[in-house]
Amino acid sequence: MEKTFIMLKPDAIQRRLIGKIITRLEERGLKIVAAKMLNVTKELAMEHYQEHKDKPFFEDLIDYITSAPVLALVIEGENSIKLTRKIVGATNPQEADPGTIRGDFALHTGRNIIHASDSPRSAEREIKLFFNDDEIHDYTMLDEKIIY
Ligand code: ADP
Ligand code: MG
Repeated sequence: MEKTFIMLKPDAIQRRLIGKIITRLEERGLKIVAAKMLNVTKELAMEHYQEHKDKPFFEDLIDYITSAPVLALVIEGENSIKLTRKIVGATNPQEADPGTIRGDFALHTGRNIIHASDSPRSAEREIKLFFNDDEIHDYTMLDEKIIY
């Protein structure tokens, strides 16, 4: 089953949105297989966002992600990478459709509350950056046969 990496950014936690955001992922039928709250170090933030290192917003992005704890998640489900990107919505919340997480809870690109991996390659890379293998759980939901 496809796994993806999700991170509730500092503003999601500061705004007490953890429950609302996770509910959306769970209610869609996705499964949480790993979760941890952590303070992202500058090194980890720079590694995670390495593709943006030459962008003008890079320094602000690193300051934002390291400003307070985040909630890191591994989510599992059929087509979970594309599906969670859809549920999350466009990078710029102004362009995110209503009904998406960013479209319902955020206003600014620089405070867009959630990260979701954008490809199988980045999902694998990002999961490895944030989690050890033994922190990722392999289990069956009681109603898994109904959901899938
Ligand atoms: P996404 O998070 O949707 O995959 P990107 O990979 O393009 O988006 O950018 C990573 C993160 O960098 C965004 O989620 C956002 O927090 C920040 N970011 C992107 N573009 C800008 C921008 N123009 N100004 C400020 N922050 C930005
Ligand atoms: Mg991205």
